[in-house]
Amino acid sequence: MSRIHNIAVIAGDGIGPEVVPAAMRCLDTVADRHGFVLRWTEYPWGSAYYHENGVMMPADAIRTLAEHDAIFLGAVGDPDIPDTVTLWGLLIPIRRRFNQYVNLRPVRTLPGVPSPVRGAENVDLVIVRENVEGEYSEVGGRLYRDQPGEAAIQEAIFTRVGVTRIAEYAAKLARQRRKRVTSVTKSNGIVHTMPFWDEVVAETLANYPDVELEKVLVDAMAAKLVLQPTAYDVIVASNLFGDILSDLAGAIAGSIGVAPSGNLNPEREYPSMFEPVHGSAPDIAGQGIANPIGQMWAGAMMLEHLGEEAAAREVVEAFEAVLASGIRTPDLGGTATTAEFTEEVDARLRALP
Ligand code: ATP
Ligand code: MG
Repeated sequence: MSRIHNIAVIAGDGIGPEVVPAAMRCLDTVADRHGFVLRWTEYPWGSAYYHENGVMMPADAIRTLAEHDAIFLGAVGDPDIPDTVTLWGLLIPIRRRFNQYVNLRPVRTLPGVPSPVRGAENVDLVIVRENVEGEYSEVGGRLYRDQPGEAAIQEAIFTRVGVTRIAEYAAKLARQRRKRVTSVTKSNGIVHTMPFWDEVVAETLANYPDVELEKVLVDAMAAKLVLQPTAYDVIVASNLFGDILSDLAGAIAGSIGVAPSGNLNPEREYPSMFEPVHGSAPDIAGQGIANPIGQMWAGAMMLEHLGEEAAAREVVEAFEAVLASGIRTPDLGGTATTAEFTEEVDARLRALP
């Protein structure tokens, strides 16, 4: 009996349905090689579903997804639907209901993907973004609407449990890497939540004496990431700061089309979700030219999470080798279509001994 992993697929919108099948094909090839089966079940949720039903996914979606070992997501987004609907109608409920409290974003220089920043040739860092609490809270509201004293209030919520577990995740990850954690806050300006974060992170990291902890303010971090991106190993930050820093770091590493992310429930009580960092890219959808690397890399992260580390490594090595051979999609200055690039990656995987 071979190992079976049950995967829920939400290809979603725009280029999602173009890059998801491309990645699935390569993942199936490595699964075959390593004697496991990816049992894919596709769910047609997202913007088309919203246009028909007024919701991004059905009411029992969470129960349905809970039956799976992981969720493989393309992109959701539509120029005619507000971002808040796609975000709060699909992504955030999944992240919260499945306690995917880690958003993991590796940022690494790839062959043939030039950085717009000088001296950023060998970036290799991971951003660990807190994914379920912090600044993205529903607590707050509007006061005195349409009156001269009108105001808006938004509370940020940081819990000891929440900060401890994200710090622990970062420390454990650093242990497998270069043993450095950079914790990013704004403790000089935000005087309640951010010093609390600093305190809990320091207490947690005290249990990892082999891991070096550095604290940096987010404004300084933005500058340092541009000036010296190779200096960092694991960066841990709150929901908002982690989001901003990962876009910045992703831009430094090169194209948005190559960056992956994992929404992880490290305890594996619930399925984790894997997706590219990019969105639905409506401007190039339907042309067959989307870069499938972000989706493939997200797939490799999924395999790793499922315990298929060797297969995961092969996928990453295969697309790196194809890039190194000079074959690239137009976003990286090449002429290959999604299908051509995918065929090259798949051919390499099939040719492995
Ligand atoms: P969404 O609202 O879904 O986030 P968006 O248009 O705001 O969509 P992206 O979809 O990330 O954001 O697109 C940003 C830019 O990057 C677009 O010009 C898009 O064409 C380009 N892009 C994004 N992903 C890819 C990809 N995989 N391959 C090539 N170009 C991409
Ligand atoms: Mg967008």
